Amino acid sequence: MSSIQQKLINQNLIGMPHQDLEEFFSVIDEKSFRATQIMKWTHQQGITDYKQMTNLSKPLRDWLSENTIMQMPKMINEEISIDGTRKWLLRVDDKNAVETVYIPEDDRATLCVSSQAGCILDCTFCATARQGFAGNLSSAQIISQLWFAEHHLRKQLNKPRVISNVVFMGMGEPLANFDNVIKAIRIMMDDNAYGLGKRKVTVSTSGIVPKIDKLREEIDVSLAVSLHAPNDEIRNQLVPLNRHYPIKELIAACHRFLADKNRKHSITFEYVMLDQMNDQPEHAKQLVKVIQGLSSKVNLIPFNTFPNSGYKRSTDEMIENFKEILQTSGITTITRRPRGTDIAAACGQLAGNIKDEVKRQRHYEKLYKADLLKQKVEVQCVS
Ligand code: SF4
Repeated sequence: MSSIQQKLINQNLIGMPHQDLEEFFSVIDEKSFRATQIMKWTHQQGITDYKQMTNLSKPLRDWLSENTIMQMPKMINEEISIDGTRKWLLRVDDKNAVETVYIPEDDRATLCVSSQAGCILDCTFCATARQGFAGNLSSAQIISQLWFAEHHLRKQLNKPRVISNVVFMGMGEPLANFDNVIKAIRIMMDDNAYGLGKRKVTVSTSGIVPKIDKLREEIDVSLAVSLHAPNDEIRNQLVPLNRHYPIKELIAACHRFLADKNRKHSITFEYVMLDQMNDQPEHAKQLVKVIQGLSSKVNLIPFNTFPNSGYKRSTDEMIENFKEILQTSGITTITRRPRGTDIAAACGQLAGNIKDEVKRQRHYEKLYKADLLKQKVEVQCVS
């Protein structure tokens, strides 16, 4: 066996996009169409046992069984909300489990996936942030959340297809795990796998500006920005990353994201409604100024409380007033209906089961010392 073949041993094929699989099969002297066959078996059919992949030759099936992995997450727990939302706790490795949420609606079925085990970014209103951080998920661990949900629900609901949309709004900051997220998205959008359109996959970021630019260059998907505040003073408190990429720079990146004429999307701004914090009429007016000129819409998210959060949800009246000001200014504004609150599956409530191997404070101190954040090189997530 060659040294390149040796390197491929024990790869988890579920996390490889089509091009990577073609390269893989070329290295082991197999035809490139094997990539399509493997993708169809695993992602379309849900088959992960090579023995059942009957259009592969017997020697190839044996070789793959001995030399590669086809490893899926194990479901530890499933909770089903009265509104049909489901939350799964999925074991992704021997230490960590992440949460994935299925949100059925009349015209779509959305899967909210996690991109990291925990999160390093420490947004003060977020339950995930309290869990610490254990590392990036691999492309296999990300795509296998969709694999699990799709095939689990096909059987349970007796439907030929289930998931129509994917949002990267679960645990973690997806742009801090850029390469693995892009690989997983390529599989999601591949017609040999899930065939999701570019408007059906949304990457949500808290605002890593250089990575927004990189995302724009790399792949055409929808973008959501967790803005949550109309000025730097408030955003610095809610989203500490803002100290490194303030609102002006973030909005400039949003303009660049939409500048490509082929990109027909608008950007969604997420705005959690926190009582007395960011929900006043003057905040709504400031927000109008911040996003004016951008093709965008605003999702107002009534805060989903969790133990010791320190925040309260805005009153319905304040949310309605806020919405009214935005809409009067011509901004499409939706108040997101809380989903799955009875099973703590709503936005900002995901906690998972994380072995915190990198204490956030220590991590930030290290980055400050190295002056990395000040130089705005990138936010590094250390596994
Ligand atoms: S809101 Fe998102 S980016 Fe912020 S801490 Fe929570 S998971 Fe991380």
